[in-house]
Amino acid sequence: MGVKVAKFGGSSVADAIQLAKVKSIVEGDPERKYVVVSAPGKRFSGDSKITDLLYLCKTHIDHNVAYDQVFQVVCDRYRAIELNLGVNVGLEEEFRIIDENLQKGASADYIASRGEYLTAKLTAAYLGLEFVDTAGLVQFDKHGKFLNEETNRALKEALAGVDGAVLPGFYGSVPDGSIKTFSRGGSDITGALVARAVEADIYENWTDVSGFLMADPRVVKDPIPIEIITYVELRELSYMGAGVLHEDAIYPARAGNIPINIRNTNDPQHPGTIIVGDIDEPAGKSKVITGIAGHKDFTVISIYKNMMSGEAGFVRRILSVLEDYGVVVEHLPSGIDTLSVVLANKNLNGKLEEITEEIRRRLQPDRMEVFENMALIATVGRGMARRMGVSATLFTALYNAGVNIRMIDQGSSEMNIIVGVENSDFEKAVRAIYEAFVE
Ligand code: ADP
Ligand code: ASP
Ligand code: MG
Repeated sequence: MGVKVAKFGGSSVADAIQLAKVKSIVEGDPERKYVVVSAPGKRFSGDSKITDLLYLCKTHIDHNVAYDQVFQVVCDRYRAIELNLGVNVGLEEEFRIIDENLQKGASADYIASRGEYLTAKLTAAYLGLEFVDTAGLVQFDKHGKFLNEETNRALKEALAGVDGAVLPGFYGSVPDGSIKTFSRGGSDITGALVARAVEADIYENWTDVSGFLMADPRVVKDPIPIEIITYVELRELSYMGAGVLHEDAIYPARAGNIPINIRNTNDPQHPGTIIVGDIDEPAGKSKVITGIAGHKDFTVISIYKNMMSGEAGFVRRILSVLEDYGVVVEHLPSGIDTLSVVLANKNLNGKLEEITEEIRRRLQPDRMEVFENMALIATVGRGMARRMGVSATLFTALYNAGVNIRMIDQGSSEMNIIVGVENSDFEKAVRAIYEAFVE
């Protein structure tokens, strides 16, 4: 018999009604032996995610404001789930321990992790499976760097004799035992790590959409679901903002050669999207583009200097300015005598002016232009390589929609064209590209 790992996201465990669907999915296939859960997400638009509320408790504490009301909202949601599922996991004692730790100054990572911890406890009781904590198994070093191979070994060992378990996603621990989380959405990573450790035949990622769609459904109406996609294409799309799967969930799956299947908890019959290493298809038979993703709030600094290409160390000096300010470069498109650096606004910390001044001082460019409030849009597809006219279609579509293109970066992978447009043109541009290639 094969083994499947099923990860259920926030909306899939948002309340007892959703958890009943989880139970029927898990019990519907005896190969679904290992279950990884997130913390309860929104039940309806305008609702709060448990993880956000837990971070909010910590913020209250940091500002010496009473946090008990927010904490009570969290506790009440778990109480309702426990009651409606008809299980008993000793929630009141768990709440008391968490509260005690909060008062002792527990970290934001610790408090945030309790969302998945309590969900896993409840889910394990409800499904009649063992609860296996990921603290101590998912490992980070004392600087917070994730330890891949150590984690794989620890998970393998811990799950070796366990025929069915529920594990909390999102967190692990550092050597002294304190809790450390992945970045937001990180339960996807935990699911992939468990899949690799148990050498699963498939990693199922259950969410609230019927697979990876060709574009963000909040921007394009009813986008077509992607049936099959490669890890590389998916990583490009996830990195660029398609929020369905955490981009770091790809590595462990790829390392174990485990296909990922994105499925919909609310429509379990739908086959969803399959993500694999390689797709065996005759040349030219794949769709031209696989998907479109992007997001807002970048800054592009374009630097022009005559004979720049002949000047040794030019790029290095630009990068060293950014390094000195601790700013990560997202993209670095270049022409013969021009170079642009693309930076995420959230990393700039109000330092833009200082940075441009420093670039001016150290590099003495002929001209420099700064575009703030830019959005980046990636059009991705394994079928794009060696196909003529893809960029022409893309640029014509944007031109016809009246969108100004401020930057173009064609990745060396030949399967990704990134354009920079103004934030205010973002939605219009995504729709124009979608229509040009899909409709
Ligand atoms: P979960 O809580 O299950 O981890 P997420 O909220 O992280 O779920 O991811 C699913 C959401 O991702 C969808 O509800 C949808 O709004 C959003 N999304 C963004 N881009 C896409 C896309 N290309 N295809 C499908 N969903 C997308
Ligand atoms: N609960 C965490 C978050 O909201 C992790 C996750 O859902 O994957 O980011
Ligand atoms: Mg998610």
